[in-house]
Amino acid sequence: TNFWAGVPQGPPDPILGVTDAFKKDTAKNKVNLGVGAYRDEQGKPYVLESVLQAEDILHKKKLDKEYLPITGEIEFVRLSAELAYGKDSKPLTENRIAVAQSISGTGALRIATEFLAKYYPGPKSVYLPDPTWGNHIPLVEGTGMKVVRYRYFDKKTIGLDFAGMKEDLEKAEPGSIILLHACAQNPSGIDPTKEQWKEINEVIKSKKHLALFDMAYQGFASGDLIGDAFAPRYFVEQGHQIILCQSFAKNLGLYGERAGTFSMVCSSPEEKERVLSQVKRVIRPLYSSPPLHGAQLVATILGTPELFEQWLKEVKKMADRIISMREKLYNALVELKTPGEWGHIKSQIGMFSFTGMTADQVSDLAEYAHVYLTKDGRISMAGLNEGNIQYFAESMSKAVK
Ligand code: PLP
Repeated sequence: TNFWAGVPQGPPDPILGVTDAFKKDTAKNKVNLGVGAYRDEQGKPYVLESVLQAEDILHKKKLDKEYLPITGEIEFVRLSAELAYGKDSKPLTENRIAVAQSISGTGALRIATEFLAKYYPGPKSVYLPDPTWGNHIPLVEGTGMKVVRYRYFDKKTIGLDFAGMKEDLEKAEPGSIILLHACAQNPSGIDPTKEQWKEINEVIKSKKHLALFDMAYQGFASGDLIGDAFAPRYFVEQGHQIILCQSFAKNLGLYGERAGTFSMVCSSPEEKERVLSQVKRVIRPLYSSPPLHGAQLVATILGTPELFEQWLKEVKKMADRIISMREKLYNALVELKTPGEWGHIKSQIGMFSFTGMTADQVSDLAEYAHVYLTKDGRISMAGLNEGNIQYFAESMSKAVK
């Protein structure tokens, strides 16, 4: 018997599909700006020195490989929460934040959506910014909750549609779940200002919405771990019981190690324990207990002052390299008299830039210049370096002309 004749071919992943096309291209000067992973000046994957040193420390310790508790490595979880919320955060010092290790940011979102689908007492609709990271949609829909979009990106200004965003959050049914990118919004690279965050806080508070923060880029956005955590920390100060999904993929370059946390601000230590008991019931049938090595690496770096200092420098170095590429790309586009206004390339933040290029221009770039990016015109700034930036600027300029 053949059981699988009825299985249809699924569509290719829009981002991984770009990498496949890039791999197939045999041109020497090809450029991949699709993938959301940091690359060094030579275009190579980068393993942080602080990570290498932590690997050495762990290797010498010859630790065992026993299972972790369902909610993860205890030091990892403690130090990660301090990093995200700040050591002096009130709910943290009052022992009322439920924290569990997760399979990086995606796994944290998965725990969040599963938990919300089961226990959230309000409307089971999750508001996502338009555009957002593509995986948010199946993450929500897979749990049976409904996806609703709120306005975020303004095509005309290539900036934030702040009025539209506020209006949509205002109009949402009271008590809705609102997903917010903590910093370095993916894919647009456009974040609200501090003043705008304060206004967003007001709307969310007055409508009794729940703020669900996705923080995949703390420190990676600006080089400043505290500055990048402004929004979730401010919301916590303002009394919101936020949910936070934290990833160490980008800021520690631990992509494949899958280190992250899910956390939730509760109203008391007793409530925290109840919530955690249910979080464990979400995790147990999904993957039983989380992976060990990445959590040990993060705990070693966050818990060793010299390594922590080293890491701060490295995060800043990665962020600064990306910022300098923005500057160079902008200057080159202007110098090449590329039609249009390109200020957004400099003002956007984080790994990505929404260039404003159309799908046709993107396919021209692949066909004529061997440059690969996602159809929405998003480029990964990390894929640019001294060796390819002029070539890319010229190709982009031609595609736009
Ligand atoms: N959220 C956003 C906005 C992202 O851009 C990403 C990664 O690209 C993630 C979450 C999750 O990444 P990971 O599961 O690798 O931590």
